[in-house]
Amino acid sequence: MKILVPVKRVIDYNVKPRVKADGSGVDLANVKMSMNPFDEIAVEEAIRLKEAGKAEEIVAVSVGPAKAQETLRTALAMGADRAILVETDEEVEPLAVAKILKAIAADENPGLIMLGKQSISDDSNQTGQMLAALMERPQGTFANTVEVDGDSVVVKREIDGGLETVKLTLPAIVTTDLRLNEPRYASLPNIMKAKKKPLDTKTPADLGVDIAPRLTTTNVSEPPVRQAGEKVADVDALVAKLKAMGVA
Ligand code: AMP
Repeated sequence: MKILVPVKRVIDYNVKPRVKADGSGVDLANVKMSMNPFDEIAVEEAIRLKEAGKAEEIVAVSVGPAKAQETLRTALAMGADRAILVETDEEVEPLAVAKILKAIAADENPGLIMLGKQSISDDSNQTGQMLAALMERPQGTFANTVEVDGDSVVVKREIDGGLETVKLTLPAIVTTDLRLNEPRYASLPNIMKAKKKPLDTKTPADLGVDIAPRLTTTNVSEPPVRQAGEKVADVDALVAKLKAMGVA
């Protein structure tokens, strides 16, 4: 079985995003970018399935600028076998990404497509679901556990108040949640080896996909500044304060 893993280049999760002065978006100039954390989890899970003999090949795909090659090299250094960059400098919305992934899947025929549940850049949480709908494939979203069993995959899903188990017939779409695994760091020798692994480049037009945006961002603003807290001397003072505020 082949596993396709879409990986997105996003602002590193340790960086505090800055909003552009004109409110048109987030300032990406000179900001550290990394692989979306949920996608690292997806790459790790795909590698574990390969190590367990359940998959033969892992193909990482990214839709984005030429610099997204770095993200793909990270996936290759972790253990993916080859990579495909669908290059564009335009901002791509989840529907456009889903259409591109559908076109790649038509060429590659993966048994499993393992995405992150959401990208931390736009928090859309849409691409996996849209891809499953476009491809008319079963989906197991917010995966906490993934077990491939013959021609199906059993996914324990994180839902409010517990876990739900679904059994999907392959080929299927899975999206990863935070507790699925802890991704490995790429070792130096593997980073060196990854430089020689195949990385193909295509464009959305090669795949016949129109990526024209459907949405317009009208304004992006910083969240309101949190009010400073106040230290109270003891529990009595706390209760008195809460009473005065009308919450006790
Ligand atoms: P989203 O729907 O934007 O929250 O993204 C969900 C998942 O879709 C991500 O975790 C990635 O696995 C995949 N994805 C979204 N955008 C891209 C992209 N530009 N390139 C590759 N994968 C993507």
